[in-house]
Amino acid sequence: MAKNYYQILEVKKTDSIETIKKSYKKLALKYHPDKAEESKKKEYESNFQAINEAYSVLSDPAKKQRYDSGETGNFSSRSSGSGSMSDFGDIFGDLFRGRFNESSYDEEPDLDLHYGLVIDFNEAAFGCEKEIMIKRNVQCKKCKGSGSEDGKFEKCERCNGSGRLEANQQTPWGVIRQTVKCPSCEGVGKKVKNECNSCGGNGVQNFREKVKIKIPAGIDNGQTLRVMREGDFSKGGDKGDLFLRIQITPHKTFRREDVDIYMEFPISFSQAALGDKLMIPTISEEVKIKIVAGTESGNVLRIKGQGIPHINNPKYRGDQFVKLIIKTPKKLTRAQTKLFKELGKLD
Ligand SMILES: [Zn+2]
Ligand SMILES: [Zn+2]
Repeated sequence: MAKNYYQILEVKKTDSIETIKKSYKKLALKYHPDKAEESKKKEYESNFQAINEAYSVLSDPAKKQRYDSGETGNFSSRSSGSGSMSDFGDIFGDLFRGRFNESSYDEEPDLDLHYGLVIDFNEAAFGCEKEIMIKRNVQCKKCKGSGSEDGKFEKCERCNGSGRLEANQQTPWGVIRQTVKCPSCEGVGKKVKNECNSCGGNGVQNFREKVKIKIPAGIDNGQTLRVMREGDFSKGGDKGDLFLRIQITPHKTFRREDVDIYMEFPISFSQAALGDKLMIPTISEEVKIKIVAGTESGNVLRIKGQGIPHINNPKYRGDQFVKLIIKTPKKLTRAQTKLFKELGKLD
């Protein structure tokens, strides 16, 4: 058998349909292409496809039986009826259904906007509010989005005024007949007679606008923040989302790895030899740390809870790691030279 559907869904042949469903849900959410970073998009897509294919067979008792008996036919091309579609809705709920539709039809306009945003180390650590300028389509002020110069409309011919079109879609469950928004009139069912001369009938105009963004504490370099409904406006009144890819400028003292912070801290020969109390800077305060006598260069201290807040639970913070570096004095005073010489004699 070419593909092991059980392996793909991480279940056993004897597992119940509930277990299969649960595992499928987990994997489908994990590998949903919308969640993938750009570099992993292909991998996620092929995983997602494989998971769906496996589930479409193993969730259908008749197909499962055929599969178990060693049949290798193309299960997914057979029509599976509406029962499977309700499963799909059941599993994804409202979370993905909308996006599933959007991504499945090329005619649906992409209203999402993608921008990069540079913030500094502390802004990322503690969160911040930013005002950014973006260029986006907004509702035409003159025609209020209708696209009409005089408020007169005629019926859309493509959908015969209904605003909807029937479409067939190939899915892992077979061909599903679905109603989609008419792309010609964007679901309105009518078209303008005389186009608004301000927006050319588009109902939207491209403007530079200021958008206020709340950055959550703990966001990391390369992560993408999704700001709901701050993307392009469509003629039909829909709003896309704004995606901001975060870039963090380096800090002069601290280096970040996930939620932990790393730094180097210089100490003197005598501090290393005799031990001492140090005041170590962290991102929120100075922390008093004791070093023991006989500390060696390169020893690392860990300060618990002084790292970066977890983005999903800012109450919890990572740790700070301090690498102690013994500084060899370059210029000695006469008194120091004398003392080091005496020390040398003792060694
Ligand atoms: Zn207009
Ligand atoms: Zn139409």
